[in-house]
Amino acid sequence: MRRSLVMGNWKMNGTRSSAESLAKGIIAGLGEDVADIAICVPYVFLPDIGNVVQNSRLALGAQNVADKPSGAFTGEISAAMLMEFGCKYALVGHSERRTYYGDTDQSVAARFSQAQEQGIIPVLCIGETLEQRKLEQTFDVITTQLDAVVNLAGIAAFNNAVIAYEPVWAIGTGLTATDDQAQEAHLFIRNYLAAKDQAVAEKIQILYGGSAKPDNAKGLFAMPDIDGGLIGGASLDAESFLKIYHSV
Ligand code: 13P
Repeated sequence: MRRSLVMGNWKMNGTRSSAESLAKGIIAGLGEDVADIAICVPYVFLPDIGNVVQNSRLALGAQNVADKPSGAFTGEISAAMLMEFGCKYALVGHSERRTYYGDTDQSVAARFSQAQEQGIIPVLCIGETLEQRKLEQTFDVITTQLDAVVNLAGIAAFNNAVIAYEPVWAIGTGLTATDDQAQEAHLFIRNYLAAKDQAVAEKIQILYGGSAKPDNAKGLFAMPDIDGGLIGGASLDAESFLKIYHSV
């Protein structure tokens, strides 16, 4: 049985003090160890939140990582830097990065590799837009996004990675994929990996993201190929994030 993972993505929200209280609130309510749990916080909060989560089982992640190891890349943060601040995970290829900041399948693959080279677990975010879904291109889009990473990093790289299926039309819109729609996409992803390496496919955690909330998490998490969630808006409140966590 795969262990589940519930991960918060705080995006560009909070203040130094609200971030600290949120992390403390989550730790205070962790309760029973039902699954892995992590928060991906804005870069500048990493030192403070790193101190807060020390000696707890709440893991720390970043929301992005540079596609190069170091050098003249103004504004970028390297995987080695994230490692110094205790990051276990880094999101790569979130749809907001792809849509607003020009991340491409190739640059996402390079970010994925950079994270892994430093021992950070990349959380590869993939998913289709509404238009692509309507045109029945969902599986083609997912395949292209996965191919780019497999071609650069190799299938074995997925031994130490997480995948987040986040349909773009469900992110921040209040529209959640139905349990069956999400399961269908997750199964497709697992089968894609299984065709290359069965053991990798069975082991990898595939998270669902997109308007996951306390009232729909249980149904989603009950699906056989959904191994937890990547939670945006609902992770900004300790109580709702913890409710989602305890829905595993
Ligand atoms: P919401 O949960 O706010 O829809 O965001 C999902 C997401 O983008 C997580 O990375």
